[in-house]
Amino acid sequence: MKRIIIIGGGIAGLGAACKVTRAASEGHEVEFVLIEKDPRLGGKILTEIVPDPSGEGRFIVDGGPDCFLTEKTACHRIARLTGIFDDELPTDDSRRRTLILSRGKLHQMPDGVMMFAPTKFIPFATTGLFSWPGKIRMGMDLFIPPKKVKPGEFNEETLESFVVRRMGRECLDRLAEPLVGGVHASDPAKMSLAATFPRLLEMEQKYGSLMKGFLAARRMVEEMRRKYPPTPGQKPRTFFTSFANGMQQLTDRMAEVAGLEKMRTGVAVHSLQDIGQNRWAVRLSDGSTLEGDGVIIATESWAAEPLLRPLDSAIADALADIPASSSATISLAFNETEVGFDLNAFGVLCPLKEDRRLMAATYSSTKWPGRAPKGRVLLRGFVGGPHNQEIMRRSDEDLVRIVLSEFQDILGLHPKAMPLFSRLYRWPLGMPQYTIGHLERVELIEKRSAVIPGLALAGGSYRGVGLPNCIESGERVVSKILNEWGIDLAEDHIEEKRYY
Ligand SMILES: Cc1cc2nc3c(=O)[nH]c(=O)nc-3n(C[C@H](O)[C@H](O)[C@H](O)COP(=O)(O)OP(=O)(O)OC[C@H]3O[C@@H](n4cnc5c(N)ncnc54)[C@H](O)[C@@H]3O)c2cc1C
Repeated sequence: MKRIIIIGGGIAGLGAACKVTRAASEGHEVEFVLIEKDPRLGGKILTEIVPDPSGEGRFIVDGGPDCFLTEKTACHRIARLTGIFDDELPTDDSRRRTLILSRGKLHQMPDGVMMFAPTKFIPFATTGLFSWPGKIRMGMDLFIPPKKVKPGEFNEETLESFVVRRMGRECLDRLAEPLVGGVHASDPAKMSLAATFPRLLEMEQKYGSLMKGFLAARRMVEEMRRKYPPTPGQKPRTFFTSFANGMQQLTDRMAEVAGLEKMRTGVAVHSLQDIGQNRWAVRLSDGSTLEGDGVIIATESWAAEPLLRPLDSAIADALADIPASSSATISLAFNETEVGFDLNAFGVLCPLKEDRRLMAATYSSTKWPGRAPKGRVLLRGFVGGPHNQEIMRRSDEDLVRIVLSEFQDILGLHPKAMPLFSRLYRWPLGMPQYTIGHLERVELIEKRSAVIPGLALAGGSYRGVGLPNCIESGERVVSKILNEWGIDLAEDHIEEKRYY
């Protein structure tokens, strides 16, 4: 029996564990043991069920991610495999509106905007979000020739440079930065487009213009909707998906199916040693040692770095060069009758230009049915990010006070509306930053670890922070190790077509 030691019990580590379980169920002589330093599994995925103060009903509070991108298949596939597909939860799109703060006022994101490119003329022409010169500059995207890229040349650019070049600074400041940079909680002046949204670079090359590219994408989506209308009783397919009991339902179920008895929490891996004959030993914080035939490091890149340093300093250097920023979410619950503002929106984005302490707010109980009992409201504020690391030094009480006051100023929350409760979750160095050079760093890490038998790295620090990407990265590295042992499992993406 070959044993893989998985370090880290976030969704990437659990994705790896599920894949080893699948290999074992197909008759291969493999097993795993998973080591997680926190007292709980799930990593950044954390859902708390908070009883309503009245004793009737409950709130479902997501402290980390609250959804995944529906078009990516890995979460659906795992949900099917683990028997919770029916608990997938679409957003309530009857109330879908995104508000953006601009010059102190909230504006609705114009209908037809895809990422940051308008694809419908009238909503774009009539929105107060942009000035007229700003709109004209954005329209020039139709005429600006694409960047010249020689065949085979690596097309790398920051989000800031790309958006300013194609659509102007106002588009960056008022829309692209909070929308696109916000997903990664990243600085647009440093964020690598090739590592985060390579599709935008491809679109420019293919269509010569982003607006033309997104128009073609919109037409394709409309065509698909016409061709495959929703069947009666089928859940609507919305842009984002969650689970009825919050995102942690997914990781809890993955852990259960893979086998909780093979997972140890509350104990960290302190060091990693190649003990020869293709065997590994890890030393744990409780002083014990564990041996195995393979090791998957599914931790944050900064946590992987000291483990790799004695083995391969070039990998460790590349890991050390992946920066990360800290953030926190603060969820507040209210009585619906007291909030005093229109709740028909999914949330608010606060561009950096507005110089607010709040980065974004989600109207959780509007966006997701069932997140709050009837008559109650659940709102979530997001603070931190690369431009506001200072705020992370504030106490929990201060952060709750700050978010409450930002909700009053920005959303229009009534000053007398007092939270029924608050929940704060801190994510120190929780968001890897895919800065310029990220792909080269990841390629170096992958190339050098590919030739170390039985070793692999997985997780959101490398090829995508989204939850489906993280699952796939865990699965991919299991394949790497199993292939070294002559085990060839059917590729996961082949199954995906069946699952969604
Ligand atoms: C606030 C926030 C909101 C987000 N929102 C979304 C969203 O809505 N949708 C989305 O798709 N993505 C979102 N993301 C990104 C997504 O949550 C992450 O990319 C993803 O959860 C990372 O998973 P992971 O398994 O790679 O890492 P993690 O979840 O970080 O897991 C790594 C684990 O390794 C453990 N570990 C570290 N060192 C050791 C050690 N030495 N020994 C043992 N264990 C160790 C850690 O304790 C941790 O549990 C969000 C992220 C944050 C922070």
